[in-house]
Amino acid sequence: MINRREWLAGAVALPAAQTGAARNIVIASSNGLRPCAKAMDILKAGGDTLDAVIAGVNIQEEDPNDDSVGLGGLPNEEGVVELDASLMHGPTRRAGAVAALRNIKYPSKVAKAIMEQTDHVMLVGDNALRFAKALGFLEENLLTEKSRLAWLVWKSTLRDPKGHSNWSDGLDAPANGDGKPTASAEPPAWLRDRFPHVADDLLAYAWDRAVHPITGTINCLALNTKGEMSGVTTTSGLAWKIPGRVGDSPIVGAGVYVDQEVGAAGSTGRGEENIRVAGAHTIVENMRHGMPPKDAVLDCLKRVSRNYNHDRARLGKFDINFYALRKDGVYAGGSLWNGGISRGKLSPRKFAVNDGGASRLEDCVSLYERR
Ligand code: ASP
Repeated sequence: MINRREWLAGAVALPAAQTGAARNIVIASSNGLRPCAKAMDILKAGGDTLDAVIAGVNIQEEDPNDDSVGLGGLPNEEGVVELDASLMHGPTRRAGAVAALRNIKYPSKVAKAIMEQTDHVMLVGDNALRFAKALGFLEENLLTEKSRLAWLVWKSTLRDPKGHSNWSDGLDAPANGDGKPTASAEPPAWLRDRFPHVADDLLAYAWDRAVHPITGTINCLALNTKGEMSGVTTTSGLAWKIPGRVGDSPIVGAGVYVDQEVGAAGSTGRGEENIRVAGAHTIVENMRHGMPPKDAVLDCLKRVSRNYNHDRARLGKFDINFYALRKDGVYAGGSLWNGGISRGKLSPRKFAVNDGGASRLEDCVSLYERR
């Protein structure tokens, strides 16, 4: 029988035998190579783990070419970019989050300000914007030419059951292509005709995003040599979402969770599925009860699969990824499927790691294989 002291120790921490010494390490979703390197520089300089991961993800938030985060993130169905973020600071056990934030490209910094400068954890929508503006955050249009084009192309693919779209040629227009939606890998001829001045590769990108709405996001987790841990997740959410839709990224316990006595976890991919398994918290709890990070992630993916009775046809319509970092620096990335389809090609699921040298991508473990 365990005594009270042993029980208390077991309730908050891993048995010592399962852990080694803490070290500097940062992991992230596959768009996190530069963010991991940036965060590592800050860890090496003795900086705080939360400051490190935030500075890391700021790189993606301000990058107009990352269409899943911050500036240039794909907008909602009305063409407005709405951002979500959450974070946890291990040493103080605090959390901050913001959801459906418009016009501020650094939702991670807003989430941190909510954590540090209010007695709340989460603000949403217009009032989150008011809060950010009051603190001096710059308000700007986050739609880029590229994301605006992708939105317009997406709108022109929308059809009612009779095949009519208000965003295609009107009935009175001269015949101009067949105007029918198609799932072809390349942009159809009618689309080319509608956007005559757009470069081929840009149109191919916009078409791909329209017919395969992306999931993207960045999650970044860090551990330092003192055993301190933090994590952050920031996103523009699901492309073409209903205005006001909030995914998993700003939900503490789903998009990110940190308990530095055990480890940290985060997620990218279809947020609706993650919310239903409280993924990041589930993974940390799995590690608390002794599962190595890889098993902890796979168990969480199995819970997602179970929610569809393991029906691969339905599960095949989405993907979801989890990342886990244990307090001794052991880590894993895992995805429901071994790869994602982009422009008709399967690209293997990876995640980013930096343990002091150059950032690298490593393979995710996966539950199922797409053929
Ligand atoms: N998890 C994000 C969301 O559902 C999207 C993503 O990761 O792509 O909002």
